[in-house]
Amino acid sequence: MVVLVKPNAEESELQKIIKQLEKNELELTIMRGIECTAIGLIGDTSQIDAEQLMLNPIIERVMRVQEPYKKASRKFHPDRTIIKAGNAEIGKDKTFTVIAGPCSVESKEQIEEVALSVKNSGAKLMRGGAFKPRTSPYSFQGLELEGLELLKGAREKTGLPIVTEIMSPRMVEIFDRDVDIIQVGARNMQNFDLLKELGKTKKPILLKRGLSSTIEEWLMSAEYILAGGNPNVIFCERGIRTFETYTRNTLDLSAIPAIKKLSHLPVIVDPSHSAGMNWMVEPLSLAAMAVGADGLIVEVHNNPAKALCDGAQSLDMPQFADLMNKLKKMGNSLGINV
Ligand code: PEP
Ligand code: MN
Repeated sequence: MVVLVKPNAEESELQKIIKQLEKNELELTIMRGIECTAIGLIGDTSQIDAEQLMLNPIIERVMRVQEPYKKASRKFHPDRTIIKAGNAEIGKDKTFTVIAGPCSVESKEQIEEVALSVKNSGAKLMRGGAFKPRTSPYSFQGLELEGLELLKGAREKTGLPIVTEIMSPRMVEIFDRDVDIIQVGARNMQNFDLLKELGKTKKPILLKRGLSSTIEEWLMSAEYILAGGNPNVIFCERGIRTFETYTRNTLDLSAIPAIKKLSHLPVIVDPSHSAGMNWMVEPLSLAAMAVGADGLIVEVHNNPAKALCDGAQSLDMPQFADLMNKLKKMGNSLGINV
């Protein structure tokens, strides 16, 4: 961090600022120029509130030269993080992991039929919402705890680990016990109480990008979980809000190489919520592999026309099998295991 002091500042005021900054166990370098004086701060400046410093009338400008996220940053952790769940190793080099299943768990028959089918097609984990964040309070809200039990039954039958969304910090204990990867939905990406509670577990967290969040805000949300002591975070790009209304969201493919450059944590793509239409899931999935994503989370239903949630963007089971074949073919040509 660099703090620029105004040229007309009194020496005594400058000394007060230096004393104040020295309390933070940082290495200070003072550079006195004709136009202004610059104070260089080296060390962990994450505790320093730049806006607070700006309140001092002798300070001209405060510039961060390092990212505010340390634990999520690749700079301090050059080796990539690999997250294990069942047979999956998410984030491993040349490996593309597919998570698939319905938007919501609707019945025992539904979740078991879909889980078995996606497993046979090559999915390594199953998804299924039990607690659903719906825009309308009158829409189907999920089977809640009963849904969680049905997911556990399907895991028992298929061996596929469970990925499901948490909405409340009150549920962390139950999810930590019962779920293999806890999904934080786009709407809760900045639910900091929830992130702090998840930071106390060691459970892998699938952190979806907020509806209108910048990449830095997304990284800072991961930082909350890491700072709490949980190193297991997977990013999920699921499309963002833009002026475009043709698609449900705009898939920000550039976020994938950006996250790969900025962080050591894995990043996957959700083509279903990005597109909002089932026919667009395949091209977006292939694009995700092309830009270096570590995998996908895809919505698959045994009868999309009758789905209680997100039927229009759900693949049916043969369409998912076809998608997996295309991904395997593309993976073969790129030396990537699907
Ligand atoms: C979901 O995965 O079903 C979901 C609600 O996703 P998002 O939080 O990305 O909207
Ligand atoms: Mn959905």
